Amino acid sequence: MAQRSSSVANSPSVSTLSVSESSIAAKRFGALQFTLAQIAQIAKIVLPERTKAMYQLVSQKVTIRNSKGELVENPFRYRRVAIKNNSTNWGSCSTLRNINLNMHLVRLPIELMDYVIAHELCHLVYPNHSVRFHNLLNAITDGKEAALAHRLNKFRL
Ligand SMILES: [Zn+2]
Repeated sequence: MAQRSSSVANSPSVSTLSVSESSIAAKRFGALQFTLAQIAQIAKIVLPERTKAMYQLVSQKVTIRNSKGELVENPFRYRRVAIKNNSTNWGSCSTLRNINLNMHLVRLPIELMDYVIAHELCHLVYPNHSVRFHNLLNAITDGKEAALAHRLNKFRL
């Protein structure tokens, strides 16, 4: 372990690496263990940015109509993203339109991270797990909701 971290510390910065060198660096990066503090730091940068990107994506992808058939403006708008470290859920959504995301989401494959964010964004439209909620989430994930949920279940918090 000590040998691995010292070799990383001595390696040149990523911007100066050639393509072949950078693929070696990427593998080393993947093998590194992160402390909880480091995961929290990464999550605080990555998750709010990813939520913003997902917000833009879903806002373009679907339109929401209210019970009168009128278009809902900005149905996925949220107030803020808070990063949590808990062992009870990957994410949650409050009635004040705040999204809470578990910092360990950054350890998942990116499509599962996006799936959890999409799930929370859908709760801004439907604050429940109704058929309408699942239809929306399925539409946003291009019909892959069940498959993504199944894959996510294999990961433990
Ligand atoms: Zn939910």
